[in-house]
Amino acid sequence: MYPVMLDVGDRACLVVGGGGVALRKAQGLVEEGARVTVVAPEVVVPLARMAEQGRLRLERRGYLPGEAVSYGLVFAATDDRAVNSRVYDDADSAGIWVNVADDPEFCSFHLPGRIRRGPLQLAIASAGEAPFAVRRLRQLFDRRFGAEWAEWVAAASRFRDRVYSLELEPAEQEGLFDRFFSSTVNPDTWNARVPTAAEEADWLGVPVDHVEHRSADDKSEIAGCRESDTTTGFVSLVGAGPGCPGLLSVRGRQRLEEAEAVVYDRLAAPALPCNLGPEVELHPVGKQAGSHPIPQEEINALLVRLARRGMRVVRLKGGDPYVFGRGGEEAEVLDAEGVGFEVVPGITSGVAAMAWAGIPVTHRREAVRLTLLTAHEAVKSDGPQVRWDLLAQDRNATIVGYMGVTALPEVVHQLLGSGMDPKTPAAMVEQGTTASQRKVISTIAELPDAVVAAGLNPPALFAIGPTIKHSETLDWYSRLPLAGQRLVIPDSAEVVARRLEAAGAEIVPVPFPVTPAARVVMAALPVTGCVVTSAAEVDWIHEERGGPGWADQTPIWCVGNEAAERARERGWRPVYELNADVDCGDLVADIAGHFR
Ligand code: SAH
Repeated sequence: MYPVMLDVGDRACLVVGGGGVALRKAQGLVEEGARVTVVAPEVVVPLARMAEQGRLRLERRGYLPGEAVSYGLVFAATDDRAVNSRVYDDADSAGIWVNVADDPEFCSFHLPGRIRRGPLQLAIASAGEAPFAVRRLRQLFDRRFGAEWAEWVAAASRFRDRVYSLELEPAEQEGLFDRFFSSTVNPDTWNARVPTAAEEADWLGVPVDHVEHRSADDKSEIAGCRESDTTTGFVSLVGAGPGCPGLLSVRGRQRLEEAEAVVYDRLAAPALPCNLGPEVELHPVGKQAGSHPIPQEEINALLVRLARRGMRVVRLKGGDPYVFGRGGEEAEVLDAEGVGFEVVPGITSGVAAMAWAGIPVTHRREAVRLTLLTAHEAVKSDGPQVRWDLLAQDRNATIVGYMGVTALPEVVHQLLGSGMDPKTPAAMVEQGTTASQRKVISTIAELPDAVVAAGLNPPALFAIGPTIKHSETLDWYSRLPLAGQRLVIPDSAEVVARRLEAAGAEIVPVPFPVTPAARVVMAALPVTGCVVTSAAEVDWIHEERGGPGWADQTPIWCVGNEAAERARERGWRPVYELNADVDCGDLVADIAGHFR
């Protein structure tokens, strides 16, 4: 196998077939500027839509003998092997490159798994021998390479032009390229950064102005940067809410849908809209498995840099941006740098997680004051001090503590030491409002041990006060039949999704083809199951299984026999088959029955 990158721009390409696999091929080709013709008697909706938008030509009919020879590149993805082989024979005998999906025997080339960051592409292939392994490797690299690589390649390209313009000896040029590379790429973490204008000027031995001036001109070259009518960008500091995706505000959602770059924290990831297009830059900046949290200064610098590229930026933060979220610091930096910004508040977790746990944080005559505190800071001896003595005396009040898992014993010690009644009701809620929510209800004196016994981990909040006694009677969430379920569903199945959500499930509505944003959302918390309504949906969901968030035994509910058969063929276990005309209520009961 000999790897190449083909320039398919304006080249005539043929896709025979109208299902999910054909769609993926057509989409990939259209994105690269190819002139695509799709031939199939019936096609999935997104293909028809692309044809209506004039992005490809659609011929609703069967494949005509010999037709393949007038194209530069040919794909067949029908479920009829005879048709596939005819397409292959026609193309191959005319010396035209041809690929039949899932049939290595009928392929003169294979498609690699690919990672794309602007102009940077990584292709992974196994000569068709182990597609499952390639798929997993692709996912691994996809997580490894952050969105910053797109910016980095654009910066490298500008740097190359500048170096060439100096007309140096080859050895000197290479020295500068080494300098660029070793200063901007961390080979241990696989992180990359864009050098500052001052750094570049220093390496090149030119005045800073020269570098800055050039980079402003080059804006249009920057990868992934859409044409924008304003030259100055704008940053929206958006509160993502506590975790449940439905708790993002309407305005927050609008800002995300208009964003060209999203800088998000780990806690905010579940609220990303799955339908953000692949052109939207996604910058994860929270703590992630295997890598360190990005320092606040770097986040600030990233926001400024993206805005200076003229982009509409959303800084998506868990809960509310101004409640223990360092949103105030980010806003100050933006202001100081002359970058326009706004704040879209979010529902803070301290209130929402309690509501999900059956705890009203205020209650007439019981709790007339609410204190939100960061337990982590509150117990530090060198910081601003909390008047525990006052809090401990205030009986008709609720204390909600953020970042309090490790600080809890110290908080309890302080409050009891200041005279709080040890029988005061208390609670801790982990991952509140998400399908992974867990809670412990106890008294303040016993809460630290109870939390350890239950093994609760961050993110979690504690609450102390009289209203916690309502948590059992008001526990509406745990009573829902699908509480605790996080289900992946094609985003076209809106009615089903609504019903499942009303029954307590968290829904991940994944568009087809799957977007990078949808992958981030799926990976944010464990997926407990998926629901599909066609064989094409099984095919594409199958591509995602094995990624982070999924387990080997994730059950699949198939509406209709065709979908169920495909799922079994693909090796899914367990597969639940439901009648094509199944009632949503029955679907809920079926899913609830499995988890009971
Ligand atoms: N700005 C956020 C808080 C950020 S501080 C807000 O308004 O909610 C991070 C802390 O928030 C975590 O340590 C945890 O104490 C709390 N937190 C955030 N989301 C949570 C959730 N879904 N469940 C429980 N605690 C949560």
